[in-house]
Amino acid sequence: MALDMVKGMEFKQVLELIQSGKPEQARALLAQLQESFLNLCQENENLRRQMDEVTQILNLAESVEFDGQKYWLNEQFRKKGPYCQVCYDRDALLVRLQEHDKHWHCQGCGNLYLKRAQGMERKQGLRAVQGKTIPLFVD
Ligand SMILES: [Zn+2]
Repeated sequence: MALDMVKGMEFKQVLELIQSGKPEQARALLAQLQESFLNLCQENENLRRQMDEVTQILNLAESVEFDGQKYWLNEQFRKKGPYCQVCYDRDALLVRLQEHDKHWHCQGCGNLYLKRAQGMERKQGLRAVQGKTIPLFVD
């Protein structure tokens, strides 16, 4: 508000300078006003962009779902993913997991997520990975 008042006074001053036959001074003052106007526009644009980013992050946080192991993204009746839990929790990055027969792999941090097996599938899955240590969490 204070800024608006100052600018209002300066515009009035420009008018007065013109009326009293001082066009050079009026022009200089106008140039100053133009510069601060452009700065305000830039600042406004930056703030708008920041606000958009915050809104996006909030929207994202609302549509991310944790299945106890990985993240999924709910997008208008569609489920996208899964995404790496480590990358999202640590860096707020949604890194899509690559699907393999028995597990999901994150190319971002190298983490492996064993697939949830059921019944026979589960036993076969366990046998298949026997002798191999699969780190569930990579530091
Ligand atoms: Zn990851």
